[in-house]
Amino acid sequence: MSSAARVDERLEWVMHQQFDRLLAALESDDADGRPAIGREVLGEVLARVVFKAPEEISRAEIADPEERRPVDRMTLTPGTVSKAVKVLIERNLLEIGTSSLQRATGRPVLPLRLSSGWTVAGVKVTHHNTRPVAVATVLTALDGTVLRKREPVPLPSPSSPTDDVWPQIARIAKDEIDSIKADDDNTRVREGRAASELLGAGVEVGGHVFEGQVVLSDYSRQSGTAPLAHMLESLLQKPVVVENDVNALAVMATRQRNYGSLDMVVVAVYDEGVGGGLVMDGRVRRGGHGAAMEIGHLPVERQDEVAEHASAATDRDVPGFSDACWCTQFGHVEVLATPSRIRGELGVTDLQAAAATPSVDAEGNHTREYRVFTRAGTGLGRGLAHTITLVNPGRLILKLPPVLIEYSPEKAASAYLTAVKREINTVFSTGAADAELIVEAFDDVLVTGARAAAVCVIDAFIEHLRGLDGCQTPGRRRSDDPTSRKNHGMTAAREDIGAA
Ligand SMILES: [Zn+2]
Repeated sequence: MSSAARVDERLEWVMHQQFDRLLAALESDDADGRPAIGREVLGEVLARVVFKAPEEISRAEIADPEERRPVDRMTLTPGTVSKAVKVLIERNLLEIGTSSLQRATGRPVLPLRLSSGWTVAGVKVTHHNTRPVAVATVLTALDGTVLRKREPVPLPSPSSPTDDVWPQIARIAKDEIDSIKADDDNTRVREGRAASELLGAGVEVGGHVFEGQVVLSDYSRQSGTAPLAHMLESLLQKPVVVENDVNALAVMATRQRNYGSLDMVVVAVYDEGVGGGLVMDGRVRRGGHGAAMEIGHLPVERQDEVAEHASAATDRDVPGFSDACWCTQFGHVEVLATPSRIRGELGVTDLQAAAATPSVDAEGNHTREYRVFTRAGTGLGRGLAHTITLVNPGRLILKLPPVLIEYSPEKAASAYLTAVKREINTVFSTGAADAELIVEAFDDVLVTGARAAAVCVIDAFIEHLRGLDGCQTPGRRRSDDPTSRKNHGMTAAREDIGAA
């Protein structure tokens, strides 16, 4: 383990304290001064409402074991659900919906949904040449619906190679969150509604993130970590979750009904990078220090293969397949599979035009474009094949830039997915058949990413309620799932909240 990946344990985190303050209000006491309803129950109920969202849900559905995620295992009786719902409505986390749900008997049922009184901020930090370059912000409802978005704010160019941009990023994020919240509140007030309460902010970053800190060596050859969550929490005075970009997509996937698989891999191809998120037993798994599923840096071409192609390489401004990965090594997935490397390899700026060129020339040979897309897809496919071999996922969600999704065999870009699937089919035993491949167009990268970051806050809040985040709040029973410690990218609170 490198010292860079160590967490500064002296940091004082406000996230758990803030969540706990909200919880203290939720856990109304009974006559003996004991909580009338446990926070685990409240968390379980919220988890099931979130899973159904944005659709509304009835009390009976909340109690129905068929309607929950397989990881939401608590048995909830209708009576318990009613008690929890009452508290959650009183504290404005749930509200009565407008749809007309009906029981099988035809009797109308009160529909419930997440309260519109709360909002969550989501921030995406974008990168170019491994440096953070812009901050994009959205405001979402508790169910993850994007209410508002801001134009990305470019970061000033660094004044030196070691210029620390992370405090600037925290300040810009704070200003953007204040602005987007103010815009939304103004609209609410004009419409005669109350201003919203901000639950917290999520920030997603491309690269290595561990417990709220950005591991800097990935970006700038600087050592150490940037405590981004702490920086933004200090400015915002609200809970902040910082997450790797594809882990954030994976967190979002675990709360979406349409995926519903306990064992999934999410792989996203960005313009300049490739990342992965690992979901096992229904939870995002980040590894010992947050770097699990770094598929982008799997070596998938041997040195001699790279060298063989390199001899044919021409002078390029933009790096291609034979150039080094930004991590300094060669033949990595990220060197082959991204639009920017394909452009570099082809020496073009317009990938759309190259993608639409014919697969074969007049002599019936594959065109250069087709061969380049084949090599790119083969690189990604090998990375995916290794992943499938190692973790045997039930689902492989592959988010690709639309230009790389081409099903017409006459067009050169079709070679990309063809090669991906060919490599996947080489996997040992039933692995390839087990992994249902879902190819999704990844077109609105900024908003999707910022939204995923916001969903991480809701996830963190629910996991904190349920005691699954390793935070040992006094008076809470120990979690029955010891494997879930540190499972959402934030540090466990070290301070004694009860004494605060
Ligand atoms: Zn690399």
